[in-house]
Amino acid sequence: MRKKIVAGNWKMNLQPAEGAALVRELSAETQTLQQSGVTMIVCPPLIYTAWALSDWQREGSIEVGAQNCYYETSGAYTGEVSAAMLANLGVTYCIVGHSERRSLFGESDEVVRCKTEAVVAQGMTAIVCCGETLEEREEGQEKEVVARQLREALGGVSNEQMKQIVIAYEPVWAIGTGKTASTAQAQEMHAFIRTVLAELFGGETAQDISILYGGSCKPDNAAELFACEDVDGGLIGGASLNANDFLAIANSFQN
Ligand code: PEP
Repeated sequence: MRKKIVAGNWKMNLQPAEGAALVRELSAETQTLQQSGVTMIVCPPLIYTAWALSDWQREGSIEVGAQNCYYETSGAYTGEVSAAMLANLGVTYCIVGHSERRSLFGESDEVVRCKTEAVVAQGMTAIVCCGETLEEREEGQEKEVVARQLREALGGVSNEQMKQIVIAYEPVWAIGTGKTASTAQAQEMHAFIRTVLAELFGGETAQDISILYGGSCKPDNAAELFACEDVDGGLIGGASLNANDFLAIANSFQN
């Protein structure tokens, strides 16, 4: 069964007190959202994770996710935090392969694949990001790029483990730019992603996978995006830093 999901990616934003205040505002509505079948995930900076798990979940029904992890379990990897550590702490979701990780921190498709495998092996759900740059879209390569990213990222995942995968389609040209994909562009790509998933894992599995849209998703465009047949929610950056905006987006599902 596909889940309706809104996931907030705070990136490297909000001081601890600001984060706590934001979560307090969100928690007033999360139970109602949960009753209407919407899963709300918040991915704060990694250093807030333990605190988030102990405090926020008492506040309401917010899932705590991570923005990144490392794939080795332990060892001499200064500055890194492993998927195993996150899972043992109680984290349930981890974003993998965000375009900022790929472009700013040099994450290759192979690294994304290792991280995806590590996240699912630890029993968490991986939110696997894919998406083309503006240049790639202008050259008509968007589907080829997204298909490659998915095949690489999911190469080591079994059919059974696909239950622990959520895909986020995030056209790089729409992230933090105020430019959103049109509903036609989003639906076309999401449907394409489902056909790639069907080739890899079979039609039935593909139908059950939630595919989120990300890229300047805001209260004024979320409803039309979420109404698309193959859009199952959103991965939200900037708008997840404001409680009213994030809640308005989470309330944008039609049914
Ligand atoms: C993101 O970075 O995942 C994202 C979707 O950002 P924004 O909503 O700010 O475009």
